[in-house]
Amino acid sequence: MSAGEASIAGAGKVSAAVQKTLSAKAERFTESVIREMTRLAQKFDAVNMAQGFPDFPASAEVKEAARQAISDDINQYAITWGAKELRDAIARKFERTQGVHVDPEREITVTCGSTEAMMAAMMGIINPGDEVVIFEPHYENYGPDAILSGATPRFVQLRPPGWNFDRDELRRAFGPKTKAIIVNTPNNPTGKVFSREELEFIRDLCVEWNAFAVTDEIYEHIIFDETKHISMASLDGMRDRTITINGLSKTYSVTGWRVGWAIAPPEASVPIRKVHDFLTVGAAAPLQQAGAIALELPPSYYQKLAEMYLVKRDRMLAILADAGFRCFKPAGAYYIMTDISGFNFPDDMSFSKYLVEKIGIAVVPGSSFYDDQSMGARQVRFTFCKKESTLAACAEKLSKLRA
Ligand code: GLN
Repeated sequence: MSAGEASIAGAGKVSAAVQKTLSAKAERFTESVIREMTRLAQKFDAVNMAQGFPDFPASAEVKEAARQAISDDINQYAITWGAKELRDAIARKFERTQGVHVDPEREITVTCGSTEAMMAAMMGIINPGDEVVIFEPHYENYGPDAILSGATPRFVQLRPPGWNFDRDELRRAFGPKTKAIIVNTPNNPTGKVFSREELEFIRDLCVEWNAFAVTDEIYEHIIFDETKHISMASLDGMRDRTITINGLSKTYSVTGWRVGWAIAPPEASVPIRKVHDFLTVGAAAPLQQAGAIALELPPSYYQKLAEMYLVKRDRMLAILADAGFRCFKPAGAYYIMTDISGFNFPDDMSFSKYLVEKIGIAVVPGSSFYDDQSMGARQVRFTFCKKESTLAACAEKLSKLRA
């Protein structure tokens, strides 16, 4: 069940001499628990409410654009920092939606998903001894991102039910060694959407300590209840100290395309582009071309996306409440963090194992979102980016849990 099992089993097969040469950095983190849960869902034929990928079709227009790009023979490397059409479209959209003007020639790097953008950003700005402030619970990648880039993470708690942070605690996490803070809004796994006031408080600390904000805004269009998504880069004083990370995956329901990007001031884009170049050379060229079309979709596309997810959120909240979970209602993104205290299980891992093996539902154990795993021991995360028949199957299976 543990994410480490596969790697531990694998490590057992290599000789001691070879093992001695393996990376101490990679030893410090496990494989992704989220992706492990998808493998377990397949193994036990369970409904996958763990990994956040839509199981319904992407937009016909965007898919057609990808087919067309391949037919048009856009099949060789794009320019390493991204096809010009896509970078231009990203710049136009950032200006249109957030009022931030950026230079696509010097400030945008297209990457293999926002995952690579985050890693390239961290490797591009971190020096030994640098600290990075990370709110937790946090998306699991940020831990390995910090380790691989050589940063020392400083965790600051978001506390349920509102997932608010304590301002003094955040202030104490900043200091002369702080290179950056990672801000993921709308937030995975909590569904928190940072308010302007909160972002301004973070901004003031970034300015005081001369730190970057690295923002993961991949869920920007999945937002509910009149909440507004605010990009950190749009705040006074943050235009030139924010690295904004985003991608096609969630907005256009194409998580397998692996097209993301980092928007950063020119000085920061230089090392990000170098790291990206030697990590991957570039993202898939025809899919970048399709991305340029996707980013020009009209506002109605984004309205419909948010409306669709609102229905799914409310449906899933009802299913979970009915099954006995205490839910923290998300204001954005497509996850629901739940409190499992109502069930008689020692912790999130044993509960998740029972759910996938005996009930037929895969979830993500809460501990995988915390540095101190005990903090997530009463929590599991459900995603709701699934078609109605999947949500119905989830409801049906959870009725067994109740019984
Ligand atoms: N971001 C999604 C999640 O949190 C998918 C993660 C992944 O596997 N890349 O579930």
